[in-house]
Amino acid sequence: MADIRDYYRKNFLYESHRLMLPELREKVVHTCSRCKFFITVVGRSEARPGCAALIPQYARTARRVPEKLDAAELLRVLGRDGLERVLAGAAPHRQACGLFQPRA
Ligand code: SF4
Repeated sequence: MADIRDYYRKNFLYESHRLMLPELREKVVHTCSRCKFFITVVGRSEARPGCAALIPQYARTARRVPEKLDAAELLRVLGRDGLERVLAGAAPHRQACGLFQPRA
């Protein structure tokens, strides 16, 4: 009888496939731009993508996430470090993270 470890080691078809839990699929196939937490942070001279999941009042999903938020307002609520985290968290073509939720 063949050793089961050899079966997987010598099976090249098995080697090229990845196993994925069904609930992970939605996060892997989507990008930030399809997430309900994806926002545009509008500043004085530019607008940048951001992640509302890092803003406490929207993270709990109690309030509807708007498409655009004012950078000055976020700076007042979150502080400089919090705003930097919001701006660094999302990009339109970045693979969705574990907090992904599809837009309604
Ligand atoms: S970083 Fe995660 S939670 Fe934020 S917009 Fe992207 S997928 Fe959504």
